[in-house]
Amino acid sequence: MATAENTELIDRFEEFYRNYYRNEIGELAQKYPNDQKSLYIDWDDLYRFDPDLADDYRTKPEQIQEYAEEALRLYDLPVDVSLGQAHVRVRNLPDSEDIRDLRHEHHGNLVAVRGIIRKATDVRPKVIEAAFECQRCGTLTRIPQTAGDFQEPHDCQGCERQGPFRLNTDQSQFIDAQKLRVQESPEGLRGGETPQSIDINIEDDITGHVTAGDHVRVTGILKLDQRGNDNEKSPMFDIYMEGVSVEIEDEQFEDMEITDADKKEIVELSSEPDIYDKMVGAIAPSIYGYEKEKLAMMLQLFSGVTKELPDGSRIRGDLHMLLIGDPGTGKSQMLSYIENIAPRSVYTSGKGSSSAGLTAAAVRDDFGDGQQWTLEAGALVLADQGIAAIDELDKMSPEDRSAMHEALEQQRISVSKAGINATLKSRCSLLGAANPKYGRFDQYEPIGEQIDLEPALISRFDLIFTVTDKPDEEKDRNLAEHIIQTNYAGELHTHRTENPTSNFSEEEVGTVTEEVAPTIEPDLLRKYVAYAKRNCFPTMTEEAKSRIEDFYVDLRMKGQDEDAPVPVTARKLEALVRLAEASARIRLSDTVDEADADRAVDIAHYCLKEIGVD
Ligand code: ADP
Ligand code: MG
Repeated sequence: MATAENTELIDRFEEFYRNYYRNEIGELAQKYPNDQKSLYIDWDDLYRFDPDLADDYRTKPEQIQEYAEEALRLYDLPVDVSLGQAHVRVRNLPDSEDIRDLRHEHHGNLVAVRGIIRKATDVRPKVIEAAFECQRCGTLTRIPQTAGDFQEPHDCQGCERQGPFRLNTDQSQFIDAQKLRVQESPEGLRGGETPQSIDINIEDDITGHVTAGDHVRVTGILKLDQRGNDNEKSPMFDIYMEGVSVEIEDEQFEDMEITDADKKEIVELSSEPDIYDKMVGAIAPSIYGYEKEKLAMMLQLFSGVTKELPDGSRIRGDLHMLLIGDPGTGKSQMLSYIENIAPRSVYTSGKGSSSAGLTAAAVRDDFGDGQQWTLEAGALVLADQGIAAIDELDKMSPEDRSAMHEALEQQRISVSKAGINATLKSRCSLLGAANPKYGRFDQYEPIGEQIDLEPALISRFDLIFTVTDKPDEEKDRNLAEHIIQTNYAGELHTHRTENPTSNFSEEEVGTVTEEVAPTIEPDLLRKYVAYAKRNCFPTMTEEAKSRIEDFYVDLRMKGQDEDAPVPVTARKLEALVRLAEASARIRLSDTVDEADADRAVDIAHYCLKEIGVD
């Protein structure tokens, strides 16, 4: 159908290629088809060349892509190859849509989404043109497979009888296909929203390059898929995408924008003398006490510095910590608060709601037709470069328990099952909460023996806090006062929002709510953390080094004891370094000073004393 319009558009693309992509096409011709099969074009380039054409590419991508590919086939190449099956793939659309904001108006359009790959199937061949051999006369009838369902011939092109037919795979054409599920990145979510996801089909040369846990930006065409089955169709549709290009993004906190005004505020805050107290007050203010735990959680947010060693190995900067203790002591409340203030976090329970659990799993479920294996990322992978807050860690599955060792120390998770061999990144900090072995601590048994996790796992935690719920008159009175105060503040707040003409005085509301308001606004704190982690890489001063060394050597001497509840290993030393570095980062300092080392030693000492070392 060489209409005038078609020819004109094809010519337009040829001209575009000559002006913008001469070298790229030359390179493609040399590598085609084994090493490269696609010409990638930047939407921006096309827009500069011809804004109308670029807009058409967005609104009628399938049609325009055909012209673009036809122009590529017709392009005058310096070498004698034919780019018969080459693809044109657009990337770099100027803006990306939030997955939760995709609507029917995007149907058929080219859109870009960003997120993390939650699930990815194996790469498997998909038939695109099926050759059916007539069992009566032997004629091949070729049926293009463009629709979703497998199409069989009605009658034979040779004898015109209705088969029977046999699929001849040698004579059929196949393409590699893979299905992905991309979920919104944790950092895009506010206040514990459930992340939404979209399924994306990809084909041919772009398959097999991404895996579960990768942060990606996918450009593709939004499609609709009717719910229900052949017998009973539903008026409701689901959306999915045909992926055109997939780019891996690995920047930290890419979505976090920090303005000059934010930066000024952060720098000012960082030099305030009581910044550490402020930090403590910025975590879960409705929970009374736990100053040490809260400070440690804050250090965890800032984290130590990850070191890449010359031999290619790396030492994690992420801190792992565990709160273990009696029920009803505010552990869950503190953990879930992290979602408000961490730039990237995942909060979940050890019991796990997904088949991937906490780590990762190869599963065979509906996502891959029930036949195909799918690799699914769990919480520790989804929290890559952030914090995984995992409640009821003691209730995790046996599979997770064993995968957890590698996840915490090497910060990756290997899955090897049913032909799937994959390594997923899990460069996150774990903040765990657990109950002791018998549900609550038994005061007559050593605490160390009541932690229901194996020693190898325990040793991977930088800090372990034990929380006992012993009656203590003064503490109980303060706690009661605090909780009642908190409730009252909440009541006032609700009352005032529902009745704007409330007769409580401003002053009254002010003083009451102040006490349970965070000392640093969560929005600002998130930016503060992201800013420090991006810009601040402190190194140890001599004083800080010797402070930590002394403490460690001393600890080893005491830890030689046969029945020491938790062995003191070299990991403790690394933990101290990380804590001290995190402490320096809170001040945005380039050096880890003695005071930072003291702060680290103080927290480590507090934890060890609780479980009975010392
Ligand atoms: P856990 O996870 O340790 O079993 P929760 O976090 O579910 O405990 O806390 C139970 C309830 O007790 C929550 O409503 C919490 O606000 C309250 N609570 C417990 N400890 C404190 C505390 N120190 N300060 C304020 N509230 C507390
Ligand atoms: Mg709990």
